[in-house]
Amino acid sequence: MADSLIDEILERNRDFAVTHRPYQFFSENLGQKRPSILIITCLDPRCNPEEFLRLLPGDAAVFRVGGGRVAPIITQVTSLDCFLGSLKEIMVIHHTDCGATYMDKKQIHDHVLKEDGVSVEDVNQLVFPVITDLEQSVRDDVSLLKASRIIRRELREHASGYLYDVKSGLVRRV
Ligand SMILES: [Zn+2]
Repeated sequence: MADSLIDEILERNRDFAVTHRPYQFFSENLGQKRPSILIITCLDPRCNPEEFLRLLPGDAAVFRVGGGRVAPIITQVTSLDCFLGSLKEIMVIHHTDCGATYMDKKQIHDHVLKEDGVSVEDVNQLVFPVITDLEQSVRDDVSLLKASRIIRRELREHASGYLYDVKSGLVRRV
């Protein structure tokens, strides 16, 4: 078996730890506020809100999932809100050239159906992060948050949607 890349990156981690200085997610001791904004965006390496929004520690909590789609993490939004007790607003940020816009639902279904014991009925119940229209996907995900009864009213009423342009670097409201 070929050497796993995991071994190599664990070696890099040991190097990283030599100069690592720990810090807290937020620290009232250091005068940092708890995050008031929750950002839901894509895991694409070009779509890093810490970079393109120049976030400072304690500004925001960030979920990065495929396409920045809300449905798979709705219970995590509620859990994090309960844990932090400081969230006031949610930003949903999808981005141009997103991999989810190149995905084909049928192709993914066929891929999953190759596994033993998976039925068409199983697959039809799953939600995959496929996007056909970026502005519409942002609007749909904001609507999903606003309609969710498991999210605290103040928070869901302050959900808004944006599109990040990976070419210009600009974020605009949808
Ligand atoms: Zn993406």
